Amino acid sequence: MGWKNVLFVLITIGLVFSILAYLFFPFFPVDFNFDANSNFSTTSDTSMQFYPNMRFSTDEVSFTIHDSCNLEKEGEMKEAFHIIENLTPINFYELSDLGDIDVFCEEKNKLGDDGLFIAGEGGPVNVTTGSNFNVISKGEIILIRNSDCERPNIALHELLHVLGFDHSNNTNNIMYPVSKCKQTIGDDIVNKLNELYSIEPLSDLEFKSANAIMKGRALDLNFTIKNEGLIDSQDYVVNVYADGKEIKSFSSERLKVGYGQSVEFTNILVSQITIKEIKIVAEGNFNELDKSNNKVVLKIK
Ligand SMILES: [Zn+2]
Repeated sequence: MGWKNVLFVLITIGLVFSILAYLFFPFFPVDFNFDANSNFSTTSDTSMQFYPNMRFSTDEVSFTIHDSCNLEKEGEMKEAFHIIENLTPINFYELSDLGDIDVFCEEKNKLGDDGLFIAGEGGPVNVTTGSNFNVISKGEIILIRNSDCERPNIALHELLHVLGFDHSNNTNNIMYPVSKCKQTIGDDIVNKLNELYSIEPLSDLEFKSANAIMKGRALDLNFTIKNEGLIDSQDYVVNVYADGKEIKSFSSERLKVGYGQSVEFTNILVSQITIKEIKIVAEGNFNELDKSNNKVVLKIK
């Protein structure tokens, strides 16, 4: 073999290696950054509720009145449920056990730290926090004194605590810490309940973060997705596209309200030599509060 042939073979081998290296080795890692997101939002009035936008998942809320309640207290509690039903989209229904709201009663007088008799206690006991809603799944009321008013003010006060409302400084407001018969349910409370419960109970998958890094032809990718809605999602699929071409598909089981998951892929082989944009899309065959946050577009930094 002459020196020309040797040179030819060497150049050929060199070229092949260069091409392979170009295709597979990470000389220029390329970073992509998180570009787009949008949020579903309600007016964030934090002043009235313990946390912003507290509500039950749906407008059908069950209750259980326990045996510790006499007929008078049971009557006051049921009247309180009817009053709120008439002012808002919420429907309350009774279950003999395991209701969303447990109502207990105590007969003996209880003194508070301020020396006043405690009329009752109430509040949400199980809340799933999210960035759009704080979803109440369980509430509890203890009725201690009878209200002795035309309206069941104590039961109403405790029920509004369960629905997320904090105390008011207005002595005429039913949420004032000391109960008086003249107190009424403020329009602001009714408006807030109407606003919150006019939202359809749906799930809402939302990307919280996404990162991609390209090393030669290999893509590393991670993302976090969370259900920011009011109810559990159904099963869904996440598809990853490089400049419009699908490069990865991932199936996921339903996400419960307030739950999220982080997913990481390494070394996804990409056929294109240069990529301008990575798109990650969560697709499910169910309605959501907001579909626009089911997509993330990553562009080269
Ligand atoms: Zn109170």
